[in-house]
Amino acid sequence: MASGLLLVISGPSGAGKGTICKKLIETNPQIKVSVSATTRKARDGEIDGVNYFFLEKEKFKDMLSKDEFLEYATVYDNYYGTPKNYVLENLKNGNDVLLEIDIEGALQIKEKFPQGVFVFILPPSMEELKSRIVGRGTETKEDIDKRFGSALEEIKQVIKYDYAVVNDELTRAKNDIEAIIRAERCKVIRAYEDIQTRF
Ligand code: ADP
Ligand code: 5GP
Repeated sequence: MASGLLLVISGPSGAGKGTICKKLIETNPQIKVSVSATTRKARDGEIDGVNYFFLEKEKFKDMLSKDEFLEYATVYDNYYGTPKNYVLENLKNGNDVLLEIDIEGALQIKEKFPQGVFVFILPPSMEELKSRIVGRGTETKEDIDKRFGSALEEIKQVIKYDYAVVNDELTRAKNDIEAIIRAERCKVIRAYEDIQTRF
């Protein structure tokens, strides 16, 4: 069976990654979303095991020592990591898997899975980014400053990705990602095994 597509999405905080991913899976239920582990505290409305696995630092370090993460990084002073088994099992079973992770983690994934599809989400402007982070209303002023302060440096890393999607209009941005997925599925390198079995 052909392996599923590993779709990795990154971008600065507030660009709209979470919003786009949520919309994407509403209409593409075949995409499996990896739930990350984190040591940050849950925000209002976030559910353990759904948005993240919210872990104490000790537990995170224990999983790390047992090599249970595909990648991990320290982002805005907290640990975040992708549990290995879920991703590997789903890819093996031919399912597409979506990772919404930071740049450092994405580059670790690129080393291990060069065949992954790496998409960077950009805000339409820095002004709009600021107003989205503030408007989301989920962080303290200190956390907002930390996130906004890292955004320009993060955006410079876009060159390491395969695709850049500007999230100005949400539906268009989602459509762009669907188009990327469709085009990636048609790549000869992915389809070749299947073609050989048919002809
Ligand atoms: P990220 O996951 O990249 O940190 P979010 O998905 O949390 O960003 O989005 C940040 C804020 O911007 C949220 O309040 C969200 O509703 C809003 N937002 C996302 N996409 C758009 C868009 N295309 N137009 C306007 N607001 C948006
Ligand atoms: P937030 O705290 O806003 O949910 O996420 C903060 C940052 O951590 C975002 O850039 C998000 O993409 C990243 N992130 C979420 N999960 C993971 C993960 O498993 N690994 C890595 N490396 N980054 C993650």
